[in-house]
Amino acid sequence: MSNEDDDKQAEADDKKPKLIETEVGKEWAPVRDMARQRVKNKLWNDGKELELIQLYQRMYEITVVKCKRCAKGAGSCCHIMMCEMVEKYAKKEYGVTLLRTGHSKLLFMGSNGCIVAPHLRPVCTTHTCKIVTYGCDFEDKPWTADFFELKKQIALLECDRINYRRRGNAPL
Ligand code: SF4
Ligand code: SF4
Repeated sequence: MSNEDDDKQAEADDKKPKLIETEVGKEWAPVRDMARQRVKNKLWNDGKELELIQLYQRMYEITVVKCKRCAKGAGSCCHIMMCEMVEKYAKKEYGVTLLRTGHSKLLFMGSNGCIVAPHLRPVCTTHTCKIVTYGCDFEDKPWTADFFELKKQIALLECDRINYRRRGNAPL
């Protein structure tokens, strides 16, 4: 490749979401390990499941910081109906039975926030007030760009995952 090609490649790489392995909560570790095992056993090709999980994890990390300063208190937008939907989704799509926390109002709220892995609750993970209300975070343009880039990557992988399921394969 020429230097110009190298520069273009480097520029394209810079624009991709960074799939860095960040620290995961202890509740997520078994899910992540299961995914790694499936990837190792080639149950879903090319490591896509792990990539999808990492993208959701990254999405969680960029959205949760927006909620840390929530005037109403982080998690105030949660609702038991959403928890019930997440419970069904995790079972149907991934064959995962989520353990309830015993919280008085929400099925999966723990002492440090929701305990469900980000990819098992996609609607919650991608929810922020500003995105839902304005379609962007007008006070944070770089963050908005990151959000939609991640969302695009996630949506494309979800298409693959769901089509894989529709071809008659068992839940991942
Ligand atoms: S989405 Fe909005 S209401 Fe919900 S925790 Fe975040 S900032 Fe608060
Ligand atoms: S983030 Fe967790 S606790 Fe909140 S609605 Fe979603 S599943 Fe329920």
